[in-house]
Amino acid sequence: MAGPKKRNSLVPGLVKGMVTTARTMTRPAHTQQYPDVKPDLPPRSRGVIALLHENCTSCMLCARECPDWCIYIDSHKETIPAGPEGGRDRQQNVLDRFAIDFSLCMYCGICIDVCPFDALFWSPEFEYAETDIRDLLHEKERLGEWMETVPPPAALDPGAPDAGEVTAAAKPARTPRAARPPRNVASPDPETSPGPDADPGSGS
Ligand code: SF4
Ligand code: SF4
Repeated sequence: MAGPKKRNSLVPGLVKGMVTTARTMTRPAHTQQYPDVKPDLPPRSRGVIALLHENCTSCMLCARECPDWCIYIDSHKETIPAGPEGGRDRQQNVLDRFAIDFSLCMYCGICIDVCPFDALFWSPEFEYAETDIRDLLHEKERLGEWMETVPPPAALDPGAPDAGEVTAAAKPARTPRAARPPRNVASPDPETSPGPDADPGSGS
């Protein structure tokens, strides 16, 4: 049985708890009513990775750098025949498969950072939960659909130079060079021309 001393120590604690409860009841709730109310996320949130497959050269850099090994790429080479002006046939990589397994992805963003051709982007879209974990493997087509949800790039700081791509696109197209006239260089006379061992300061 609790003594009078112990009972006295319980009373302040009880009052304290009641005060805290009363204070909390008067405050507005901070619980977000998702999914009825969508969260107001920052535009650069890491929701899902989008693929612009036209930019992808199948260089495999993203797959090699991914710490989780959850990017799968298949490609093959195709030969582009030389144009009518001559030249050589060229080889080009054609992307057959590009998939990211979001059940393994840890959203580190390394793949996006290392892509040298701007083929991968963050989208803030996060509503792609699945009841079957295997459906979290997004293939090329689905990764491409996420591109619609990628926000436009942030505005440049005032006075900052344009991006290199914009400067390059604004340059006028190159005009083809005029053909050079053939050189009319007389062949040196072996009698009068100095030999390779001649002293350059000796004159005639
Ligand atoms: S975000 Fe990170 S873990 Fe996810 S696919 Fe890219 S590199 Fe791999
Ligand atoms: S790094 Fe970029 S260009 Fe290279 S395979 Fe990955 S997405 Fe394609």
